[in-house]
Amino acid sequence: MQITAAIVRERSAPFIIDKLELCDPRPDEVIVRVVASGMCQTDLHGRDGYFASPYPAVYGHEGAGVVHAIGSAVCSLARGDHVVMSFPWCGTCPNCQQHRYCYCVQGRRLKMHGTRADGSTLISENGAPVYSAFFQQSSFGTYALTQERYAVKVRKDAPLEALGPLACSGQTGAGAVLNAMQPQPGDSLAIFGVGAVGLSALMAAKIAGCNPIIAVDVHRHRLALARELGATHTIDHTGRDKVVDEARAAAAPASCSVAPLQAPMLRSKCRFCSRAELSAVSFRVKACQRNLSPGSSISSSLANFRSTR
Ligand SMILES: [Zn+2]
Ligand SMILES: [Zn+2]
Repeated sequence: MQITAAIVRERSAPFIIDKLELCDPRPDEVIVRVVASGMCQTDLHGRDGYFASPYPAVYGHEGAGVVHAIGSAVCSLARGDHVVMSFPWCGTCPNCQQHRYCYCVQGRRLKMHGTRADGSTLISENGAPVYSAFFQQSSFGTYALTQERYAVKVRKDAPLEALGPLACSGQTGAGAVLNAMQPQPGDSLAIFGVGAVGLSALMAAKIAGCNPIIAVDVHRHRLALARELGATHTIDHTGRDKVVDEARAAAAPASCSVAPLQAPMLRSKCRFCSRAELSAVSFRVKACQRNLSPGSSISSSLANFRSTR
C-alpha cells in the first residue's frame, strides 16, 4: 500500500516527506495507521549514522495508532484496536527465554539494522529498498508495519496522540524504578536529569511511595514540572559541584539511592561535576541496568559505562 513517510536519503540529510510503498503484512504482522509518533534522540542518531542501518531510511520508534490490517495468524489484535508499538525482541535468546525482553541479545540488531530479522525491508520506493523496520516499526509514516507481539493494545478512550512515548521514555524510566530498583514506600530516590525518561522515573517513584524524591537538572522549567509531578526536592545543577552531597543531605536521615537515568544529561553535566561524583553515578547506573541488588559493588569507570550502555 502507498504511504506518506519521512525519509532520510543519506547520512545527516533532512527528513523529507514523500510517497513510499509499504509491503503487505506477513502472518504474524499488523499494519497500524499511525495517529502520532514521538521523536527522540535515538531517531536523530539513526539519521546521523550512529547505527548500522543503511540509507535511505525511515525512522520512528514511538508510534501509536489504530490497527488497519492483520496477518492471517494474528489472534490477539483486530482491525480498529488502538495500540502502542513497543521495542522488538527475538523470543529465542537466553534472556528472552527468561522473559527479560529488554535485554534481548538480538535487540540492537532488530532495532537498528533497518530490516526484519531475515534481512528483508518493509518499505520501498520505486521498487528500491528503503531501510525501515527501525525498532521493527518505522513509525514516521502514515502507516507502519510491526509484529503482533510488539503492538500493545490500549484503551480506546486513552489519548493516542500522547501515548507514543510510553514505548520509549515512559517504560524506560518507570521500568528502571518499578522493575529494576523496586524501591519500598518511604525509600528516597534522586533522579539526575528530568527529561522524558527522568520524569517517567519520577512518576513511578511517586506511585511506589518514595519519599523524598529529589530531582536534579540544569533546566529550571524541567525542575518546575518535576515538582508539579511529585518531586519533594529539586536541585538546579548549574555551576554546582557537590550535587550528590546535596541530594544525600536532602534525603537525610533516610539513605539515599542515586538513580541517574539519562546518560546524555550526565555527559552534558561533566563540566559541572567532579570526577568522584561521576564515578559514583556511573556505578549506580550499571547496578540499576543489570538489576543487581542495592549496594552491589561494581568496579567500573564512566568511560566503560558509556561504551556498554
Ligand atoms: Zn532475544
Ligand atoms: Zn525513543
